[in-house]
Amino acid sequence: MIRVIFLGPPGAGKGTQAAVLSKDFEVPHISTGDILRSAVADKTDLGTKAESYMNAGELVPDDLILDLIRERLGQKDADKGWILDGFPRNVSQANFLDKLLAEIEQPCECVLNLEVPDKVLISRLLARGRKDDNEEVIRHRLEVYRQQTEPLIEFFRSRQQLVSINGHQPMDSVASDLTQVLQA
Ligand code: ADP
Repeated sequence: MIRVIFLGPPGAGKGTQAAVLSKDFEVPHISTGDILRSAVADKTDLGTKAESYMNAGELVPDDLILDLIRERLGQKDADKGWILDGFPRNVSQANFLDKLLAEIEQPCECVLNLEVPDKVLISRLLARGRKDDNEEVIRHRLEVYRQQTEPLIEFFRSRQQLVSINGHQPMDSVASDLTQVLQA
């Protein structure tokens, strides 16, 4: 059973590694980015509201995300553990998650922080070429990350929950470092 939060800037490899761990540890990979992108593709109410923020590299407003997380962690498959990728992304989301996890009795001990130099992030994201992966939007997403998400590193570190991993290595090496941490 694992319950893990992935932290790290855009392009750090959270989604890739979360998918590997999800398969190995047989727990759902919950990516708020994936959920939002599929809402956009399906033209749901959520998707319509979220799309312009995503295209601009801004965070989607908390009120669109919080209910979604509560609902997702309440689903049956989340009983056996989960990997959160892309949430929490600011301090208010982290405080919300704290309360929610206490309420549903699903404690999370481990926050995995993937570290990758900025230069590498930008070239990875440009190579990925998603709709929100043009240079201007990428720079803005990194700025939003620095301002809103990076403070969570200290938030979790001060509670002894943070483990940092070098994400600037071949994918398999990152995966084995992560597995080692989780099996310790
Ligand atoms: P990245 O690989 O750049 O981290 P994600 O797939 O995690 O991308 O997220 C893509 C976009 O979805 C973000 O730029 C943001 O607009 C929106 N998003 C995802 N998760 C959240 C969240 N927890 N809070 C607010 N917005 C979010």
